[in-house]
Amino acid sequence: MNRNYKQWALGLIKGKVLFDAPMRRFTSMKVGGAADCLFFPRDVDELRKVIRFAQRKKIPFLILGKGTNLVVRDKGVRGWVINLTQGMKKIKIDGEMVEAEAGLSLQRLVQWSIQKGLTGLEPFFGIPGTVGGGLAMNAGAWGAELKDLLLSMTLMEEDGEIVKRPRSRLRFTYRGLVLPPSWIILKGRFQLRKGNKEEILERVKSYSGMRKKRQPLDYPSAGSIFKNPKEDPAGKWIEEAGLKGFRIGQAMISDRHANFIINLGKAKADEVIRLMEWIEKKVYEEKGISLEREVKVVGEA
Ligand SMILES: Cc1cc2nc3c(=O)[nH]c(=O)nc-3n(C[C@H](O)[C@H](O)[C@H](O)COP(=O)(O)OP(=O)(O)OC[C@H]3O[C@@H](n4cnc5c(N)ncnc54)[C@H](O)[C@@H]3O)c2cc1C
Repeated sequence: MNRNYKQWALGLIKGKVLFDAPMRRFTSMKVGGAADCLFFPRDVDELRKVIRFAQRKKIPFLILGKGTNLVVRDKGVRGWVINLTQGMKKIKIDGEMVEAEAGLSLQRLVQWSIQKGLTGLEPFFGIPGTVGGGLAMNAGAWGAELKDLLLSMTLMEEDGEIVKRPRSRLRFTYRGLVLPPSWIILKGRFQLRKGNKEEILERVKSYSGMRKKRQPLDYPSAGSIFKNPKEDPAGKWIEEAGLKGFRIGQAMISDRHANFIINLGKAKADEVIRLMEWIEKKVYEEKGISLEREVKVVGEA
């Protein structure tokens, strides 16, 4: 490890900086070792300062939202981790358009829009994570994707410059967004519509009910592990390969939703990763399907 990673972080910003930050505390899967430094910049200027410094000194960095789509390896993360949830979470409304900063919780944005009687975001009710993470992952549910509502995005380039991009100039994929390396999402502007509050609440209730019924929400997880292949949902292939309930140590394939790996309590990242590899192998052998990961595995190998 480069000892300077920590030294250089000292006094760089006024926002909080944690050293040897246990990443299990900052991710929904609740596994993984420590990050050398975890920054919580208070605003865009502080973020820019961190980025420019990191680029100058060639310090690797990772943007962390709420860590709900991440598995951090047991050896932790070398370099800097930057989290936007403490300083960058404002919402602005302009008629039926809503602009939300990347560190805002996606749930907060959904609830806030409902309160304002704006419709469009209901399918995203129950997706944990931030607006930035939701855009980076092009989060989706029940046939909707976050990109469908997006008008434009404000981004920070690798050198700290800020640019605005209309949706037409952004390349979204199924559960992803192709950005140049080290670019950071700062905010998204969404087009919603005026709706009937009671009908909006009805829809939210129904989505939330389906989620509770289908997902193992009482255990730590990172949501769906694999993307759905075009033929059929990943969970169906995993179930048909006979893997529901299979476990390695404290990591288990949920018996409620086979595309979820749950942490029974004290799982190691290594157990989760080995289970992912086991699923990939078995589903390929039994079904001839190559599953592609939705969850991102990060940290020192
Ligand atoms: C119980 C549960 C249910 C879930 N259900 C769904 C679902 O229905 N649909 C769905 O799509 N997902 C679902 N997920 C997965 C996850 O919540 C989403 O992918 C979410 O959008 C990730 O947001 P995050 O802030 O947690 O991102 P993180 O996990 O922190 O990061 C994910 C990726 O985005 C990058 N990133 C984050 N913020 C930024 C930024 N500002 N700029 C650039 N890059 C950034 C990170 O570097 C990382 O590569 C579920 C997860 C759980 C635990």
